[in-house]
Amino acid sequence: MGLIVISNREPYAPQRDEQENLTWMPSIGGLTAALDPALQHAGGTWIAWGEQHPEVSEVELPQGHPRYRLKRLRLSDAEVRDFYHGFSNRALWPMSHYFIERTRYQADQWQAYVNVNRRFAEAAVDSYREGDLIWVQDYQLALVPRMIREALPDARIGFFWHIPWPAPEVFRTLPWDCEVLDGILGADLIGMHTSEYVEHFQAACCRALDAETEGDTVRWKDRPSRVVARPIGIEVSTYEELAARPDVEDAAERLRHTLQTQILLGVDRLDYTKGIPERLEAFGAFLDRHPEARGKVTLLQIAVPSREQVESYRQLRSRVEGLVGRINGKHTRDGWSPIQYIYRGIDRKELVAHYRAADVMLVTPLRDGLNLVAKEFTASARDGVLVLSRFAGAAEEMPEALQVNPYNPEGLTEVLLQALNMPLSEKKARLQRLRERLRQSDLRTWAEQFMRDIAAP
Ligand code: UDP
Repeated sequence: MGLIVISNREPYAPQRDEQENLTWMPSIGGLTAALDPALQHAGGTWIAWGEQHPEVSEVELPQGHPRYRLKRLRLSDAEVRDFYHGFSNRALWPMSHYFIERTRYQADQWQAYVNVNRRFAEAAVDSYREGDLIWVQDYQLALVPRMIREALPDARIGFFWHIPWPAPEVFRTLPWDCEVLDGILGADLIGMHTSEYVEHFQAACCRALDAETEGDTVRWKDRPSRVVARPIGIEVSTYEELAARPDVEDAAERLRHTLQTQILLGVDRLDYTKGIPERLEAFGAFLDRHPEARGKVTLLQIAVPSREQVESYRQLRSRVEGLVGRINGKHTRDGWSPIQYIYRGIDRKELVAHYRAADVMLVTPLRDGLNLVAKEFTASARDGVLVLSRFAGAAEEMPEALQVNPYNPEGLTEVLLQALNMPLSEKKARLQRLRERLRQSDLRTWAEQFMRDIAAP
């Protein structure tokens, strides 16, 4: 029995080396870390959009000791624009994160989404051998389970939706709500990060499709689909091992030495869902209200460039950088600036050094499917405090974090003070309880259990 994984992004990306040969580098991110070992073990096919070097349509991976095949779909510029930047990122993404005013629902982009989903589904059907498990990933490919089901009525199909599933009233704004639900319900097993998302999904199925639900099962078109809450984990031991390395500790120490203050850390893609302007404003208000904190605390904000082709992301960048300038302009003195702002991504080792240097980790999205940074910090921290938005999916599993409402600047300011002044014993106790839970379900367990349940839900 082999495995077929279908995702928008590919697990390895090609790069040219000095001899002009292509080398395939593992992509950073949870999905590759979880599913590459599973595919290497089971053998099979990974189907994804071949963004770089699209002339290569297939490759055996990992390079040098191949275990499975990566099939790469070549998308035209118009498909990338309408399927990816268009319907996926300007309709489904903002709608699912409750930003209805940012949605653009366009019939031509929907049509591109249907067409591209069909191409992914056809590639899966071509690769399928009897008994294979099929696992479709995320919101870009919601129609693929149904499209595969129509061609392969007996295939075992799983689907994971990695972003929030919004309240039914919000989902109803989507002009193609029934089509998206019907697409997903082609799967035998449907996974989401929280029980709230599962409830919302089931409610949408009842309301929009008039489908029957019983317990965790939705019955539609004479087939049952199980819908389960399965928050993704991280590679806990990898982070713990990195955190224990002397060179990582040295890097953390250098950071602390350079800043010479308590450190508040923010690590986010520059996305409007992450609540970065709200966080900066709350920090500015905190400095206004607590003059005694000036010179004693620094906010280190890493903002990873994201979706720079989309106008609203460019506007967000200007807004964030304007705020950084305004707050630094107001408060900088005697060699101290309140905000250190980094507009680029850093690698995992450096990131862990930042997690270890931080006194307070600020994870304050306005809405987030899960948030891996909160979990990575927990696995890596020395004795820092996690401040976590109640609107991040991870909040459901992390009650020992200081939970905040990012829409309430006063509350955020108070929690900052609480975090900065928390006794060491309390910090350690909270971290320990968070870590215990993290270890119970790491990334490998998450993937293995989900695959087992696709085979026999
Ligand atoms: N990340 C990284 N370098 C950075 C900042 C972030 O590699 O400079 C990684 C981080 O380790 C995490 C991921 O990017 O695994 C972000 O995942 P998260 O769920 O927090 O948010 P997303 O970007 O998926 O919305």
